[in-house]
Amino acid sequence: MKERKLLSVLILLLLSCLCFAQQEEIDPKLTEVWEPEPVVVTPGGGSAPPSDAIVLFDGTDLSKWQHQKGGEPKWMLKDGCFTVVKKTGSIVTKQAFGDIQLHIEWRTPAEVVGKSQGRGNSGIILQSRYELQVLDSYNNRTYSNGQAGSIYKQHIPLVNVCRKPGEWQTYDIVFIAPRFNDDGSLLSPGRITVLQNGVLVQNNVEIKGAVAFRGQPKYTKHNPKEPLLLQDHGNPVSYRNIWVREL
Ligand code: MG
Repeated sequence: MKERKLLSVLILLLLSCLCFAQQEEIDPKLTEVWEPEPVVVTPGGGSAPPSDAIVLFDGTDLSKWQHQKGGEPKWMLKDGCFTVVKKTGSIVTKQAFGDIQLHIEWRTPAEVVGKSQGRGNSGIILQSRYELQVLDSYNNRTYSNGQAGSIYKQHIPLVNVCRKPGEWQTYDIVFIAPRFNDDGSLLSPGRITVLQNGVLVQNNVEIKGAVAFRGQPKYTKHNPKEPLLLQDHGNPVSYRNIWVREL
């Protein structure tokens, strides 16, 4: 009996040695992937655009933008930023975009006027349909799925990381556009990830359709690329340092 036990231990030992030897024989190069080699991009300092970004606003002019209905935007350009001028209408990029990484900085007025949805309201509306809310949500309660960092009336932000009124805030967005079938039906919904002031507020959430103030959002087929829209909601919200990378 004793000999049998000893024999099994020896066999086990021998097998482990063999296994180890076999592992040692696998060439580590077999799991190295060399192609394709990622394109070299020079990062910008801080929130400055990286070398491959399309700069939509660098503080000097609104040449990349137009009024939603065509023609010159009527918003105010001053001190390196531009500001919504009430009732002049929303503005859109001249260029249309599909999947993007977007950096945008925004500021709600230092002088607090109004409450709930009436305070510092604007919006970053991807493909002119899908709204990431811009709002002064610093000590300003409103419905949770309508505060800053929300996908308006679709997704509550994970946290409220708003800076004080009058301070600049950042959004860094990864947006994957929806895809449609030829018959107009939805192939795959849009998805969005948002960092506000460097903090994750939307984690790859599924967009439910075009922004809807009343009722449920729904999808209607549109071009693979559509312009980015900034909303005139009647409050003097300012924007600066806007750049985008097509994915
Ligand atoms: Mg809005």
